Amino acid sequence: MKTALITHADCLNHVTPTGHPERVARLEHVLHALEPLDLRRVTAPLAAEDDLLRVHPAGYISDIRDARPDEGFTQIDGDTFLSPGSVDAAFRAAGAVVRAVDIVLGGAVQNAFCAIRPPGHHAERETAMGFCLFGNAALAAKHALDHHGLSRVAVVDFDVHHGNGTQDLLWDEARALLITSQQMPLWPGTGRPDEDGAHGQILNIPLAPGTGGAEMRAAYTAQAFPRLRAFKPELIIISAGFDAHQDDPLANLNWSTADFAWLTAELCTLAQELCQGRIVSTLEGGYDLNALAAATRAHVQELIKAAT
Ligand SMILES: [Zn+2]
Repeated sequence: MKTALITHADCLNHVTPTGHPERVARLEHVLHALEPLDLRRVTAPLAAEDDLLRVHPAGYISDIRDARPDEGFTQIDGDTFLSPGSVDAAFRAAGAVVRAVDIVLGGAVQNAFCAIRPPGHHAERETAMGFCLFGNAALAAKHALDHHGLSRVAVVDFDVHHGNGTQDLLWDEARALLITSQQMPLWPGTGRPDEDGAHGQILNIPLAPGTGGAEMRAAYTAQAFPRLRAFKPELIIISAGFDAHQDDPLANLNWSTADFAWLTAELCTLAQELCQGRIVSTLEGGYDLNALAAATRAHVQELIKAAT
């Protein structure tokens, strides 16, 4: 079995203002780091409007389309911008996760990594925020449930920021277990343990500033992995943000590249045990270019190891 890499050059045409951390160079570094790896390379399609309607209302989708500037930028909030190429990039990002679910569940590959931007886990039902336009991870979960007819899908979000958008989009979805770890306190401020979903199916794991790899491993081992085993997902979706890395400029956790590899390997082992190894991983944050490249490569190498 193989690991797929799903991406599209349109994701490099989502430009942000000079000095913005979520920049084109992030994806360039990621793609360069993945270049030597043995991956099945798949071109991301544009998401269909019907796909996006699983997580966003039609009015929101048309608002995003209409916000596309002919030149320069449209500013959506304090740190979320659209350039002329952003709408296509966002539709490619959403299309990538949909295609990833299709090929993993179809058996063409065992797991898949979506190298995309803009990221998605902060986008709420009707609110773009935190560099995110469409809720990619939640969309992947809904697509697996509603289109492919799965009964149980798990989403694991290890980005250093709380996946408030994914939480919003899956709040009342009993068929989806969401496990999200985040530095707290940190923007966007949500992600307390008592935010547990309409069916108790959301597990928030706040981590204090300075949390290193040993504490992260202990927290996942004690809290996340038993919940995954009890839930018995048929597919695991990963919101793979690499900004908990010790070199990241936007946050204060102290995970190493080896910690990301460990967490990925553990999730792959659980996927083997629970759901024939099926994993769809999608890129979220990570803002130190070298750390992002190294940690993403380590993450994808573990996916490859698990798929062979
Ligand atoms: Zn983040």
